[in-house]
Amino acid sequence: MRFYKDFLEKSLFRIFPFILLISLFTACGTARKFSFSIDKNYPAKSFNSRVRFLVMHYTALDFESSLRILTQQGVSAHYLVPQTPLDKKNKLFLLVSEHDRAWHAGVSSWQGRSNLNDTSIGIEIVNLGYKDEPQGRLWFPFTPYQIQMIKKLAKDIIDRYKIHPTAIVGHSDIAPGRKQDPGILFPWKQLYQAGIGAWYDEDRVKELHTQLQNQELNILKLQQDLKKYGYALEESGILDERTEKVIQAFQMHFRPSDHSGVPDTESLAILKNLLEKYF
Ligand SMILES: [Zn+2]
Repeated sequence: MRFYKDFLEKSLFRIFPFILLISLFTACGTARKFSFSIDKNYPAKSFNSRVRFLVMHYTALDFESSLRILTQQGVSAHYLVPQTPLDKKNKLFLLVSEHDRAWHAGVSSWQGRSNLNDTSIGIEIVNLGYKDEPQGRLWFPFTPYQIQMIKKLAKDIIDRYKIHPTAIVGHSDIAPGRKQDPGILFPWKQLYQAGIGAWYDEDRVKELHTQLQNQELNILKLQQDLKKYGYALEESGILDERTEKVIQAFQMHFRPSDHSGVPDTESLAILKNLLEKYF
C-alpha cells in the first residue's frame, strides 16, 4: 500500500509540469481564437468630412525635384500637377490619400481654424515661382495645360466635399508673409469663371470704390473685415506688420496688379463686395 502511494505521488509530481503546459496551451489557443465582427447596418446620420479647405501651392521646383521632395522628404501634398502632359492620359499624381493628412500647409490659419493640414486637401503645382531681377520680381506663369488640369481636379474635389468658395485659398492666404505661393499669376479669376473659388463683381466694386473714396480709412474696420473673410490677424486698429502682410496676401489673390500691402480703397471695395456676396 505504501509503495503504491509513493508511486502515485512521484508520478503525479512528474506529470505536473506537462499538465501545466497543456493547460497553458489550451488557454492561449482560446485567446488566439477570439475574434469579433462589425455590423455596418446602422450608419450614423450625424458626421461630416475632415476636408473643409482646398489649398493651392506652387512647388518652386522642376518636376523631377518636386516629385522627389514631395515623396521623400518631410513635406507632401495630396496632388501634384505637372507642367506638361506626361502621357496620353494626362496623368497627375496622388501622393497622399485624401483621407490622410498631407504635410503641405505648415503653420497656418483660415476662418478661425489653425493647422490646416488637419482639415484641407493640398494641390502642389509644378512652377518655379519667381526670381528677383534688377527690374523687379519676375513670376513664372502656369501653363494652359496646368490650368485645365487644376480646373478639372479642383471641381471634382469641391463637389465631393462641398467646399465653400471662400474656403478655396492659396498658401499665401493661410500663411501671410511666410508664403508667397501660388503667386500673383495664379488664375483665380479664371477658376472662378469655371465655378471654383470666390471672386468679386466688378460693377459693384466700382460703385463701392466711388463711395469709399470720400471716406477716411479705418484700420480697425479693415482688420475686422479681413478677419471676417478668413485671414488671421489681431483687431488692433494699428497698421502693424502683420496687417500689412495680410493686406498683401489679399491683394496677391484678388488685386495682383498692385500687391504692395498698402491699404487702398480699391482693395477695400473688393473686400466689402466679397463679404456682401459670400457671408
Ligand atoms: Zn505652398
